[in-house]
Amino acid sequence: MNLFDLHGKVAVVTGGNGGIGLGMAEGIASLGASIIISGRNADKAGPALEALRALDAKAEFIAADVTKKTECVALIAAAEKTFGRVDILVNNAGTSIRKMPEEFTEEEWHHVMDTNLTSAFLCSQAAHAAMKRAGGGKIINIGSMMSLFGAPYATPYASSKGGIVQMTRALATAWAKDHIQVNAVLPGWIDTDLTKRARQQVTGLHESVEKRTPEARWGVPRDMSGVAAFLSSAASDFVTGTAIPVDGGFSIAM
Ligand code: NDP
Repeated sequence: MNLFDLHGKVAVVTGGNGGIGLGMAEGIASLGASIIISGRNADKAGPALEALRALDAKAEFIAADVTKKTECVALIAAAEKTFGRVDILVNNAGTSIRKMPEEFTEEEWHHVMDTNLTSAFLCSQAAHAAMKRAGGGKIINIGSMMSLFGAPYATPYASSKGGIVQMTRALATAWAKDHIQVNAVLPGWIDTDLTKRARQQVTGLHESVEKRTPEARWGVPRDMSGVAAFLSSAASDFVTGTAIPVDGGFSIAM
C-alpha cells in the first residue's frame, strides 16, 4: 500500500493559478491526482496548467469568483463533471488590504472576509456532497501567521485567518463521520504576488522576515507542496482539525 498515491483522485484548488495555490497543486499533482485550478483571471491559468501537465497530471482551469455561493456550487459541479469526482479541496483563494483599523470601509472589511473566510466555507459546503459520493475527502484551508499573531495593518486579514482555524476545527468534527478530514495550513512568509505588494507597502518587511525566520529566508510556493501532498493522501487519514505551520520556524522564534 502506497500511503501517498493519489492516482484516480481529483483535487480542486481555488486560487490555484499561481502563488501558494500552484505550489500546493504541484504537490498533489506529483502524486498522480487530476487537478482543477480555479480563479477569476483565466489569463493567469496558462502557465499554471503547463506546470501541472509537465508533471504528467491531467489539469484544467475553471473560472470562479469564490466569494459568490452560486459560483462555488458551479465550480464543484463542473469539477465533478470534468473528472468524474471530487476528493480534495484546497481553499487557498485569498487577498489582503493593509490599513490601520480606523481607516477600513465596511466594503473593504467584507471583501477581505468574503475572499478569505466565507469563500472557504461556501466551497467546503459545496464539496461536501461530492466528497460523500467519492467515499470521503480531504479539505485543506489556508490560514496564515496572522491566524496566530496580530498586526496593526491587518485587522480583517487576521480576523479571517483566525476564523479559518476555528472553521477547520468545526468542519472536522462535523464531517469525520463522512470520512472527510479537514485541516488548515499556516504558511509563513512566502514570496508571491500578494507579498510582493506587502513588501512595497511595509518598510523593512523583507529584512525583518529574514531576520526572524530560523531558516533565514522567505519561503517559495514549492515549499507548500509537501504539506499539501501529505494532507491530501491516505498518510493523513487520522489527522483532522489541525493547523500546521509551514513557516521555516517563524512562529516558534522570539
Ligand atoms: P496570490 O495573490 O499569488 O494568490 C491569490 C490567489 O487567490 C490568486 O490565484 C487569485 O486568483 C485568487 N483569488 C483572489 N480572490 C479570488 C476570488 N474572489 N475568487 C477566486 N479566486 C480568487 O497570493 P498567495 O499565493 O500569496 O496567497 C494564497 C493564499 O495563501 C491566500 O489565502 C493568502 O492569504 C495565503 N497566505 C499567503 C502568505 C504569503 O506569504 N504569500 C502567507 C500566509 C497565507 P485570481 O486573481 O485569478 O482570482
